[in-house]
Amino acid sequence: MNLDIIVVYMQRYKHGHEYNFVPPITGIHLAALTPARHRVRVIHQQVERVDFETDADVIALAFFSGFAPEAYRLAREFQRRGKKVIAGGPHVSFWADEALANGCDAVVIGEAESVWAQALDDAERGQLQSKYFGTPTTLENLPTPRYDLLSSRFFAPRVVQATRGCPFSCSFCSVPALNPGFRARPIADVLRDIQYDNFKHWWQRKVAWFWDDNLTAKRAYIKELLRAMIPLNKWWLTQASMDIARDSELLDLMQKSGCIGVFFGIESFASASLKDANKRQNKIAEYKNAIEQMHARGIAVMAGFIAGFDGDTRNSIVAMAHQLNAIGVDVPFLSVLTPYKATPLYDQLDAQNRLLRERGWQFYNGYNVAFQPNHMSANELLDAHRELWDTAFSPAQIAQRIARNAPRLNIGARFLSLAMNGFYGVKALRGNAPLDARQMIAPTRIGPFVGQTTRPSGEFMQFVGTAMRVAASL
Ligand code: SF4
Repeated sequence: MNLDIIVVYMQRYKHGHEYNFVPPITGIHLAALTPARHRVRVIHQQVERVDFETDADVIALAFFSGFAPEAYRLAREFQRRGKKVIAGGPHVSFWADEALANGCDAVVIGEAESVWAQALDDAERGQLQSKYFGTPTTLENLPTPRYDLLSSRFFAPRVVQATRGCPFSCSFCSVPALNPGFRARPIADVLRDIQYDNFKHWWQRKVAWFWDDNLTAKRAYIKELLRAMIPLNKWWLTQASMDIARDSELLDLMQKSGCIGVFFGIESFASASLKDANKRQNKIAEYKNAIEQMHARGIAVMAGFIAGFDGDTRNSIVAMAHQLNAIGVDVPFLSVLTPYKATPLYDQLDAQNRLLRERGWQFYNGYNVAFQPNHMSANELLDAHRELWDTAFSPAQIAQRIARNAPRLNIGARFLSLAMNGFYGVKALRGNAPLDARQMIAPTRIGPFVGQTTRPSGEFMQFVGTAMRVAASL
């Protein structure tokens, strides 16, 4: 049987991406789980065109809520052409019936490992079920992702997952519901993946990008892994929670094992917002020192900030552009609060009747507003976010971030800071700001409450950004 795995993508910037850093791990992990008798291809819509003339018998679609309109367009078109369509990922895990009504023949609910081979068997025998319920499994004996199936257009193709889940429960995050508990792969398996070196360029062989939700959550595990990584002489990056800054042994091991960058979900500079977000691991008074601890070891700090908490005003949102520079962040990621299903935030806004029921899934891409903010209108929140984005990625702010910290960063971290600030800086210079979902051409009207569907314009189906949260599921 022939199988195409499509990792769906939709445009999030006015002119798309100038270059593409890193692929999600989803598609190449699923390809590795596919029994060898099937021929499998992986298509990342971010960098490759979808081929409707494919000889595939089965099409697997992986996507998160923000890309659901495009996923459903593809599903309907492939179904019309007689293909069997199986959808999975964080969106369909919570909106399975919607997917089945929009071109999908089957959905994988939850993690795919325990049911993927069965779903393919059933498809091969012409007995595909409509729903497959994946149960969280141990992460032992997982195969190496099929890096050989990746497009060459990704700058850092070696993506790795060592752990799954997170012990925290931030109000806006669907990880605790999607990937319950915290599980870790055997260290030998992780090392095997990190040592896969069949890449063309030296930097591709050098960099390992951990797609973990919170790699450092279990200290004994991560310390053992990092000790084993020291002789490999790699550069690596991951997400972690800020409380690691209090563990100097861990930080020293991160330095010795080649860490060049860590992503902290800082989210806000307001204690009320952190409380709303249930971000108990973040202490505002410790932000600067936490980043200093990283810089002291040559590690660059990427950090996420969110606009739209109930305490936020336009001024407090725009002020974050200066506050993040003042605490020493090297690369900011600036998003709009988004109420994904299966999060406490969604339940709260739903109970308060604050979800904007006329807005479709394109408003759930992290750069648009899908709820009624507290102190302003939805349009004012969007404008405040765009002003934050424009300010934080202005040439002056970017130059300041690169120049100020460069002398203290290791070579890989300098490279990272330069590349990622350059990524956003080029966008800002080109006027390539985040796309406003209100202006999308013929916007789809698929959404949590809309209940009707129309076909989106082909112009809109280009290549865009993928959510980190897609990583752990189909
Ligand atoms: S936002 Fe990060 S720290 Fe919070 S629950 Fe999600 S993965 Fe864990």
